[in-house]
Amino acid sequence: MSRFYSIRFRLTATFLVIILAVMVIISLFLYTTLERYHINNLVEHLERSGRLASEFLEGHLRGQIDTIRLSSLAENISRQAGARVLFIDEQSSVVGDSVRVGGLINQTLEQRDVEVALNGEVSSSTAYSERIDHPIKQMAIPVKDEEGSVVGVIFLSTSLEDVYQTLADIRIFLFLATILAMAVVGGGSVLLARRFTTPLQELTAAARRMSEGKLDQHIEFQPNDEIGRLAEQFNIMAKRLDYYTSNLKKFAADVAHEVRTPLTTMSLLTKSLKDHDMDQKQQKEFIDDLDKELDRLVELVNDLLELSKLEKEEVEYEKVAVNNLLQDIISENRMRFSRAGLELSGNIPEHDLVVQAVPLQLRQVMSNLLDNAFNYTSSGGTVTVSLYQEDSEVITAVCDDGEGIPEEDQAFIFERFFRVERARSREGGGTGLGLSIVSEIITQHNGRVWVESEEGKGSCFYFALPQAGE
Ligand code: ADP
Repeated sequence: MSRFYSIRFRLTATFLVIILAVMVIISLFLYTTLERYHINNLVEHLERSGRLASEFLEGHLRGQIDTIRLSSLAENISRQAGARVLFIDEQSSVVGDSVRVGGLINQTLEQRDVEVALNGEVSSSTAYSERIDHPIKQMAIPVKDEEGSVVGVIFLSTSLEDVYQTLADIRIFLFLATILAMAVVGGGSVLLARRFTTPLQELTAAARRMSEGKLDQHIEFQPNDEIGRLAEQFNIMAKRLDYYTSNLKKFAADVAHEVRTPLTTMSLLTKSLKDHDMDQKQQKEFIDDLDKELDRLVELVNDLLELSKLEKEEVEYEKVAVNNLLQDIISENRMRFSRAGLELSGNIPEHDLVVQAVPLQLRQVMSNLLDNAFNYTSSGGTVTVSLYQEDSEVITAVCDDGEGIPEEDQAFIFERFFRVERARSREGGGTGLGLSIVSEIITQHNGRVWVESEEGKGSCFYFALPQAGE
């Protein structure tokens, strides 16, 4: 990836452009405001000084003040105003000048500002003075008699050097402020971008390792923000994926193992049938054994199909009165149990206990539990199905007084292919999948399933389902 496309680069560049634009706008605004303020100040100052000087020119024109005195008055005003002061009469002739040596006394001043002032208007302009070698601000103010006719002009000019120097200082200050702001923002945004991108880079690296097959990834860096939450979710996802994958491998190995046993037996039986001379009775025994192994295979495949169906099938939940369902199941099974010398009894309340469930799946759960009770209880035993309510749960118990389950095995009983003393159970024809199907269905129903058992005394399997609202 080109570094120009990286978040780090783009974030920094964006911040820099924004801060540059902001600083340029602020600087332009500040600079023009300050420039206008300084020049206006200067002009007002000149005008005030000019108004002050105008009465001296009037005195001169009335013949009360002579040229020499006028020039010395001009010099005084010039010192106060910081500007050159000229007194000019109606004919544009200079009658007083604050510059005594090399001044313009008796010369005609041909200036546009003077012409405008002689026409009765105050006029000012910016010009360049060769005498002082600087730009200057000049101003001509008309002096009027009582009737309002222009009788002369006060002409003032002052150097703009100080103002321009101040403005140059301001320009340097604004330039440095812009550079400083950009450096601070640039540095800050690099740090900020690094804070964002470091965990993202770690995430990318971990995701790449996962795509290469190393699923057990864990991100350590977890700031308490959106990226932190992303990392947290990533960790959960990786853990789950790792769990599912290893489970899948284990499951595939278990299935292969389970299928291999009946297949090996069948292969041996077929070879014996083929290679040995046998009488009819022996042949029938062998074929019966073959039949049993085939049944086991069919049962295994059916259970596997049932499990995979549970994982992907979309099912419709409906309100089910568990008491009625259990009564039906007990009636359907009673004959089969009694033929095997077992008593199947029910302890079911009359009133409805209703849950949200898929009836066929509940039947499957009961069928698996009853089959187990049937298989692991010897003749003469009793199997009882009970139903009751506890808090907001509807609980079903299937209890037998059969062989029971050793305590150390009880924790694993709901795992796929788990059998207590495998050889014993296989003899009985179990696939080791019945209880995992039960557990899967009950979990999907938001319920819980558990076992209480004592070896030699019997077992009780319970499942609790949330009671359905009205
Ligand atoms: P299986 O098809 O072998 O019965 P399950 O998953 O239904 O598989 O049961 C797992 C194992 O739990 C059985 O092999 C058996 O050893 C034990 N088990 C299940 N139910 C009972 C029971 N009611 N009494 C004694 N042992 C039981």
